[in-house]
Amino acid sequence: MSIKSIDPTNGKVIKSYPETTKAQVVKKIEQGHKAWTEWRKSSIKERAALLRGLADQLHIQRAELARLMALEMGKPLNDGLAEIDKCGAVCKYYAEKGADFLQDQRIETEASKSYVSFQPLGVVLAVMPWNFPYWQVFRFLAPALMAGNCGVLKHASNVPGCALSIEKLVKDAGYPAHVFQTLMIGSNVVNEVIAHPLIKAVTLTGSTQAGMKVAAQAGMLLKKTVLELGGSDPYLVLEDADLEFAAETCVNSRLINNGQSCIAAKRFIVVKKIEKEFTRLFVQKMKQKKLGNPLEADINLGPMARADLRDELHQQVLKNIEMGAKCLLGGRIPAFKGQHAYYEPTVLSGIKKGMPAYSEEMFGPVAAILTARDVEQAIELANDTSFGLGAAVFTANEKLGEEIARTRLQAGSCFVNSLVKSDPRLPFGGINQSGYGRELGLFGIHEFVNIKTVYVK
Ligand code: NAP
Repeated sequence: MSIKSIDPTNGKVIKSYPETTKAQVVKKIEQGHKAWTEWRKSSIKERAALLRGLADQLHIQRAELARLMALEMGKPLNDGLAEIDKCGAVCKYYAEKGADFLQDQRIETEASKSYVSFQPLGVVLAVMPWNFPYWQVFRFLAPALMAGNCGVLKHASNVPGCALSIEKLVKDAGYPAHVFQTLMIGSNVVNEVIAHPLIKAVTLTGSTQAGMKVAAQAGMLLKKTVLELGGSDPYLVLEDADLEFAAETCVNSRLINNGQSCIAAKRFIVVKKIEKEFTRLFVQKMKQKKLGNPLEADINLGPMARADLRDELHQQVLKNIEMGAKCLLGGRIPAFKGQHAYYEPTVLSGIKKGMPAYSEEMFGPVAAILTARDVEQAIELANDTSFGLGAAVFTANEKLGEEIARTRLQAGSCFVNSLVKSDPRLPFGGINQSGYGRELGLFGIHEFVNIKTVYVK
């Protein structure tokens, strides 16, 4: 059996990679554990130096890695370069902050000495998606290795080249053998990997359905999980917002990564009074985005990652229209030659409860505009979702915006007058069906450690 890279611009197989056999998977886990028994003894200084070396390797190989993403999942080259640079930044961040984040925390009690010490857990399984094939992995990998863990990666089946290149980057940076390994396996083998006694914890970034399955298996075996799942982020546009700026930011957020980002804005909840003007600006800006081959320099949007995902999205769009939504732009599979996964930037308005865009994640370049009577109803609509990843509010009243972000919106990251983005310094994660646990920042590095109490009488 093999895992194939398929070019989403034309459907052609780029390369086939042999699958890791079950016996090889077991061997790799054992090798990972053996590596960990030494790696866990490494000093913080050594780990920081290796992470800096990893950042250097990312920098050296950035052009090649961005090209690989363009080929395997359609990311425009410039976006790919930015993604690789962000991976370098997260490595440097944990190299610099790791010592502080992991140092013992003294707690005064009646003992002569009592404190918390952050100890590594062992080999952690990372199940990762294709949409940010490097960033999603590095935001786990950098803190996990810094904390003294080892990792095995089961990457999405459509980015095998990216998956192997990450193992190579770690090797090129000079890490000891088997500290971080890629398993070329399908999702059907994940349960067996989780069940291996030497796998100590699991992190999954992906759809809510995959998260539920992995969490069920890990939960049955009492293994810790961190889940970064889907979202349908609401962006609220209030009456007093700078509409030009709001529309520009909303379009940019909706179209991040060809519309395939967990924290892309997906529902635009606009107060009635400014709905017409906001919609006009929004459609105008969506129209200006150029769709084309991700290897070409002057395009804004590439194809979606796979033709089946594009087909699924198109069906969702058609269902909204059937149920009464208005299609103001796009809604079509563009007439490019050959087999491909392109989809036109699309704007739907008049979205109501019961329509797919109201409650489901639309994972592609499709915007859903909802109208609210006033601020209160906008907040109500924003929170009427099973997800809770990110949210944003646009208003000239910063105080009100902050109040809404801090206390009213139910999501893991709430931004005011800005698109929602991840940042190595800030914790990232969701609530409800968007998952649990946090990546990045101080909270991220503490997810996969034994927060050990040490008490000396
Ligand atoms: P996906 O289909 O859930 O796949 C994600 C990973 O899980 C892949 O490695 C996949 O392997 C594996 N997987 C799928 N079903 C599984 C199962 N039953 N058991 C074990 N593993 C399984 O998601 P995707 O299409 O790659 O990514 C899109 C989704 O990810 C969206 O919902 C998006 O919002 C979410 N996402 C969330 C975040 C976040 O930080 N919250 C970030 C990025 C993406 P195969 O490829 O082999 O199927």
